[in-house]
Amino acid sequence: MTTPRATEIVREAVLGAPEEADPAWPWHRPGVYAVAPGVFRIPLPLPDAGLHSVNAYVLDEPDGVVVVDPGQATPDGREHLARGLEMLGRHPRQVRRCLVTHVHRDHYTRAVELRREFGPSVALGRREQRSLALIADPAHSVVGAQLELLLRCGATGLARELADADDGVPRDLYEEPDTWIGDEEVQLGSRVLRAIPTPGHTRGHLVFRDELSGLLLAGDHVLPHITPSIGFEPDVPARPLGDYLRSLALVRALPDTWLLPAHGHVTRSVHRRVDELQEHHAHRLEETVAPLLERTSTAAEVASHLRWTRRRRAFEDLGPFDRMLAVLETRSHLDVLVDRGRARRVDEDGVERYAGV
Ligand SMILES: [Zn+2]
Repeated sequence: MTTPRATEIVREAVLGAPEEADPAWPWHRPGVYAVAPGVFRIPLPLPDAGLHSVNAYVLDEPDGVVVVDPGQATPDGREHLARGLEMLGRHPRQVRRCLVTHVHRDHYTRAVELRREFGPSVALGRREQRSLALIADPAHSVVGAQLELLLRCGATGLARELADADDGVPRDLYEEPDTWIGDEEVQLGSRVLRAIPTPGHTRGHLVFRDELSGLLLAGDHVLPHITPSIGFEPDVPARPLGDYLRSLALVRALPDTWLLPAHGHVTRSVHRRVDELQEHHAHRLEETVAPLLERTSTAAEVASHLRWTRRRRAFEDLGPFDRMLAVLETRSHLDVLVDRGRARRVDEDGVERYAGV
């Protein structure tokens, strides 16, 4: 991928100034975006065309640079981060610390690569420990847990289609971080970030909150344009959507701040987007329960009747990976309905079927 070289730092969202990003300006256009004093967003291209890019946030501290989510280990990602730092008068060797919101390849793997090249310390959420160990193990399929679940969801054909799936990232990049962090304060040179565990997108997902500057580095927990996938990780928890909804409520209960997402523009209000996400899931639970009142169904059957993505695409028009996410997300919604007494689950020969109550 060749992208034009950015030459100026764009003011995207400066605290106190009444401007949000221009929606006509693609959030993933290469460059450096000044978000707040000392805080910059650098979108890094991803090989995954659907996501476009991942935002690395650079916190330019007096004693060096801190990068939150340095992205995926790709030549393009490396180059764009280096260029962005150069525009800030910095060099990758001045990065002294990487804070990573979760274990997914598009957030974590470049941190390990940076550490190998320049030695910054890497921190990741403590509850990612088991998933990281499983991903690092070459004997373990990156979608192994998902394939087993697909069989339980009645999606046998799809499981077969995905049997050889791989994430294309060398397994040795999933090294352990220097620090496992949980609910704690992270002291940087000139600011304090509070790391807040927000399980759901993954088990050990963290957001970083800068209370004084009114910023939430939200990773994939709260995204402005899309709803994050739920429980796509090797160590899948029992109720990932229940966890996610609780984590949304947790963030909603804190005073409102700017939203600094890992994919998408910076926007003014975390609360506004959390409200939309909660509404989306409430609506989705109703759409999911409706067919069960007619007949008992597997998660795969329910998923095939729902519309997917922002563009409301038909299930069969999705690629196999997205169909997998769709079936598993439907299963998560069905399990929340069971927990709320709106549906019941019957296991028949290893396949789960759901009925309305
Ligand atoms: Zn992501």
